[in-house]
Amino acid sequence: MWTCRKCGEEVEDQFDSCWSCLAAHDPFSSRSLAQYRDVVKNLARPSNEQVESFVQHIAEAHSWYKHLPLLPPGVPFTFFVDPSAGLARILSADGSVQYEERSENDEKYRSLWMTTERYRSQFGYLAGYRGPTAPASAGTQHADAFAKGPLFGLDGNSFRIPVEIAEAGVVELTGIIHPLAARAWIWREMARKQLVRSRSWPPETGGEETLQAALLLGQQDGPDADEKLAALLLPEKRRLERTMSEAIHRMLDLAYGN
Ligand SMILES: [Zn+2]
Repeated sequence: MWTCRKCGEEVEDQFDSCWSCLAAHDPFSSRSLAQYRDVVKNLARPSNEQVESFVQHIAEAHSWYKHLPLLPPGVPFTFFVDPSAGLARILSADGSVQYEERSENDEKYRSLWMTTERYRSQFGYLAGYRGPTAPASAGTQHADAFAKGPLFGLDGNSFRIPVEIAEAGVVELTGIIHPLAARAWIWREMARKQLVRSRSWPPETGGEETLQAALLLGQQDGPDADEKLAALLLPEKRRLERTMSEAIHRMLDLAYGN
């Protein structure tokens, strides 16, 4: 039996959603803002420098130019403070999560740049999650428990961050944050696949004019076009970095009670 977190009904184990209100079964309990602050106060507040390093790290952590839309609407990312930040997360067969220090003394982590020690010196306890909520489709097997949402680890358990933190720390990102978005072939593809149809560029960084200029450069080729694209897209890349940084500071102010 599990208890529905939304309506409080008791539900048999063979069902993965509530028979009464249809809410999906959430195996993770959330923490209130007060409880979360109690945890966070024991962790050093990330410095401004660590926030900026984390923004740059997130911007290049994956090939976002391939995996995120280049034009709005983008995809939400949520930033939070996690006592288990920088640890390896190992999913057990029963669905629980184990945390393990990534140490250079351990064979499997030796070749990684991102040992726990280096992660924490660069970014403190900052963590990021791609998406606002769980992608809840019944029967889906998640290879990674962290596909289930922004969770923080404490004493070997995983908890949902408070909704207030999720709201303060969320930002919408497009693939423009990645440096390789500035390639002529990408904009040629955008035009060819008509991916720009009824989509627009953020007005703060040039609106329609910027978008048309990018598509025009896509018709050209070579390093010269790429260089011009990089200069054209830079204001929007910087704007996205700034919104990330602002969201992280907003979240930190709330988490640390400033
Ligand atoms: Zn229910």
